[in-house]
Amino acid sequence: LTQHILSDTIAARYYIDIMTEISPLEKINSNFKNKDILSLDQFSPSDLKKLFTLTKKMKTIAVNAKPSDILKGTITILLFFEPSSRTFGSFSAAIQQLGGSVIAFQGMGNSSAAKGETLEDTIRVFEGYSDAIVIRHSEVGTAQKAANAATLVPIINAGDGIGEHPTQGLLDMATIYEKHGRLDNLTGVFAGDLLNGRTLHSTIRGLSLFKNNTLYLLSPKQLQLSREHYNEFTQRGLKLIEITNEKDIPANADFWYWTRVQKERFKSLADYEKVKNKFIVTKKLMKERAGKETIIMHPLPRVGEIESDVDDDRRAVYLRNQIRNGMYVRMALLALILGKA
Ligand code: ASP
Repeated sequence: LTQHILSDTIAARYYIDIMTEISPLEKINSNFKNKDILSLDQFSPSDLKKLFTLTKKMKTIAVNAKPSDILKGTITILLFFEPSSRTFGSFSAAIQQLGGSVIAFQGMGNSSAAKGETLEDTIRVFEGYSDAIVIRHSEVGTAQKAANAATLVPIINAGDGIGEHPTQGLLDMATIYEKHGRLDNLTGVFAGDLLNGRTLHSTIRGLSLFKNNTLYLLSPKQLQLSREHYNEFTQRGLKLIEITNEKDIPANADFWYWTRVQKERFKSLADYEKVKNKFIVTKKLMKERAGKETIIMHPLPRVGEIESDVDDDRRAVYLRNQIRNGMYVRMALLALILGKA
């Protein structure tokens, strides 16, 4: 199992390397205007600071239900080739909170792609109608490919297969920052499908920008972080500790980040069944291993990895701050990219 998932991962990574060789990721470098957002690698700590400061302001706009026209006159197109509810809903809400217009397509794989149109053509068509394009696709590297094809508008990666999900990474970091006031000197736990979970690939990449972070990686052996990711993140200075038993979760971590096993990435249901739900957050586990200030995060949807009676615990932020921060971060990001903030 590990072998065939891994070989796909390596192929995917190789593909990314080819793509990025053609167009290296453009750094934000304090200027978000018209930049594609493809990976957390584009950000520096000061770019994140700028984004999170604006995110706070966006929260005020959204919470006070103040009408805003920051994005008035702009059109953002959502092109989703792979199913989504939270990311899709949160981008749509973010744009509308700021008075912008959205043209949204779900199930793109069933329309133009099914008729045989190339991704490049689809992008060239839709960039003519819009100011920005948000894209989700099941293949690693597709957002980069779209960015290569686009000549007029920025492309935002809303998830490319098992690659990255940068806006989720940003909202995760905003959530940790909001709680702990720092993104360095953290101890965190990532659990579940570390091999295929694109959200945590972005979040860990983001945390690697900061000093002295220690991450415990809890997963079945078959779903460990790929060795390429492991080596890359370690070389960047992250301290990674792989564990396979809940008993090895450190006491008083700053955050736990649980994920679902990514069923859609498995070749057979039987393989999925073998590794799903090995680690579950229960009240008991929280009592034994979590600290008073440990926040419990999850990118959602959860499918059994966190028992629902944990939801009322004030440390459980997945259905509270974390999910709401998704909309605020996307509001801030769009305002900056479209040159309105
Ligand atoms: N919603 C997240 C994603 O699109 C997490 C998940 O699906 O497990 O990657």
